[in-house]
Amino acid sequence: MIDVTNLQKSFGDHKVLNGIDISINKGDIIVVVGPSGSGKSTFLRCLNCMEDPTAGEIIFNGVDIADQKIDINIHRRHMGMVFQHFNLFNNKTVLENIMMAPVHVRCQELKKQKKYKIGKTKKEVIAEAKNQAMDLLARIGLEDKADVYPSTLSGGQKQRVAIVRSLAMNPDVILFDEPTSALDPEMVGEVLSLMNDLAKEGMTMIVVTHEIGFACEVADRIIFMDHGKIIEEGTPLEVTKQSQNPRVRDFFQKILNV
Ligand code: ADP
Ligand code: MG
Repeated sequence: MIDVTNLQKSFGDHKVLNGIDISINKGDIIVVVGPSGSGKSTFLRCLNCMEDPTAGEIIFNGVDIADQKIDINIHRRHMGMVFQHFNLFNNKTVLENIMMAPVHVRCQELKKQKKYKIGKTKKEVIAEAKNQAMDLLARIGLEDKADVYPSTLSGGQKQRVAIVRSLAMNPDVILFDEPTSALDPEMVGEVLSLMNDLAKEGMTMIVVTHEIGFACEVADRIIFMDHGKIIEEGTPLEVTKQSQNPRVRDFFQKILNV
């Protein structure tokens, strides 16, 4: 599904990604770990076209999305992104947050279709998106929060809303950037449990996280980044317990011994 070759990113003369190569298949759960500043967020942001790579290729569903001439919006729709700080729109209700992107995209499609006098009315599109959003809220047990604003939700609820908001676009893959690291400890479990469910359903996921228990349970592969490179890649057991790389061993010894 995604083939990354020699991905590089510099900010001025600061080289942040130093040649990343990775292939991701449909249904893969990839966990990305590594020290702070190693380029994990920049890697996800390049995948999602929020940063323009300095060099390299990102082939997503057969198209090079690192090529700045293509319409990235079309590709971005197929890639969900979940952030550490939720990034919900605080001036929109929970329901509006979930409906907004699907309604926008489907209304754009509608405009094109109108020329051929086919398709649904705008009202039908909105009603459909609303039904879907309510189903997604029911899935996380938050139907009663549909009409409230995000500021009234707990961190765990906000992040679960952010996750189902990305599901509303029926993405091929969801990128998670430290989705639990801004949460109070007692709310980490509910978010990881939702992510675990998605993994079981076959969603393709790339997850930056330091939740090693989660990584060992659900990851097909863990990749370890340091100084903008992947310095270790393998099954959770191989990377967390059997790495020959001192940098990697040291990292997991510290994490696993806390
Ligand atoms: P990680 O997510 O692994 O902590 P990041 O990808 O956020 O690492 O950052 C890697 C490096 O890139 C850091 O040194 C950071 O300061 C730098 N960096 C990230 N974004 C920018 C930017 N927009 N401009 C300049 N430097 C940046
Ligand atoms: Mg980061």
